Amino acid sequence: MSIEITAVAHAFTTNTILAQSRLTYDNVQAFVDRCCEWRDDAAAVQQAKRNTSAPPPILPLVHARWLSDTLRIRRPVIHALWDVLKYQIWHMLCARERLHGMVFTIEHSRGWKIGLAYINLYPPTRLCKNNNCSKDSELRQLVPRRAIAFTFEHGVQFAKSVAFTCEKCGWEYHPNYVVRPVLALNDEGKLVTQKERRYHLGTSPKPCTTKQNVLR
Ligand SMILES: [Zn+2]
Repeated sequence: MSIEITAVAHAFTTNTILAQSRLTYDNVQAFVDRCCEWRDDAAAVQQAKRNTSAPPPILPLVHARWLSDTLRIRRPVIHALWDVLKYQIWHMLCARERLHGMVFTIEHSRGWKIGLAYINLYPPTRLCKNNNCSKDSELRQLVPRRAIAFTFEHGVQFAKSVAFTCEKCGWEYHPNYVVRPVLALNDEGKLVTQKERRYHLGTSPKPCTTKQNVLR
């Protein structure tokens, strides 16, 4: 069972407490994820004659108090959230199950064949960090490669590892390191890449720097 988003929006605008709460999406998601983990807690403290196939009308006080303290949401708002979302929370997949479902779907629904992976390794920057480079826009020249990731929760996974190359200066940005091209002095005493020197002079360069530098 899943609540239509319009019903949620209606509840949030018509419930006086929620309408004045200024909750963020992150607040609501954190509330839902935590409550999903505590469904059995909430059922276990109900009277034995209550059928717990449906959610209890009120969140247990200890849980409500903890949520209020840790999420910095006033207690009346916590109870109002439970009132609106309890049926959804009672029957939906918890965060761990949703993540497992997403991984399974990507892996078994041809995601990998069209370049979609669960693990995506990108460089930490989309801008060229070379102070001497004239590149004034984001890096878009990229090369994706297949990789294997060993994860704790989902075992061995296909992963996508992407490298950016700056077409102005030739620096290559990988997920955790950057490769600078070999530099050489031209006849004017300026540092140029080997490629530039070969292109302009047609002679073999005099390398003065060749490095792999760790970005962070
Ligand atoms: Zn550059």
